[in-house]
Amino acid sequence: MKETQDIKFNLPEDLKKCIEFHGHLCPGLVYGYLVAKEAMSLLKLKRSKDEEVVAISENDSCAVDALQILLGASTGKGNLILKDYGKNAYTILNRSDKRAYRFSRKKHYRYKGEAKEEFGRLDTAISSGTASEKEKRRHKMLKSGDLLSKPFAEVFYAEEVRFIMPPYAPLARSEACATCGEMTMSTKMIEKDAGKRVCIPCSA
Ligand SMILES: [Zn+2]
Ligand SMILES: [Zn+2]
Repeated sequence: MKETQDIKFNLPEDLKKCIEFHGHLCPGLVYGYLVAKEAMSLLKLKRSKDEEVVAISENDSCAVDALQILLGASTGKGNLILKDYGKNAYTILNRSDKRAYRFSRKKHYRYKGEAKEEFGRLDTAISSGTASEKEKRRHKMLKSGDLLSKPFAEVFYAEEVRFIMPPYAPLARSEACATCGEMTMSTKMIEKDAGKRVCIPCSA
């Protein structure tokens, strides 16, 4: 169990903040953490008070929580955009100098930590569906620690991409839905028969 303890003791403070928010340490959170840190240094970003930073995540996994904490990106502010593609890829944009980077995970992951045999055994148990909850947690812990110890370039590709100005959080007036009467953003209303404008749940 040495590795788990080492990991917990040596965690950087900013990662601890992510864990506090997310609830646990897991490889997904580490992916987001690594991407946020790399983006901050490449794009010279500080935590976003408003919308100067925009994060586009191509998945809706644990990684997103680290982007929120470190980059100050949030769906509420409109500077966190989730694309449910199930891809471990992220684009981080800096509006102030109009630069952007896209990060995507490299294909092959190989555990390089000290507990190689144990990791291999847990990996097999997980793929065959026989792993216990405890084993799954241990596997996550080992993988998290291993990812944190790797150079960024071993885990992700980073590529500077063309900056495309993402729209600011949309503001629109509200109007009452013709069916339920609840106030709804006008841009989200759907035109139904006889020109009745209704909200999305009522349109189904
Ligand atoms: Zn998680
Ligand atoms: Zn309605």
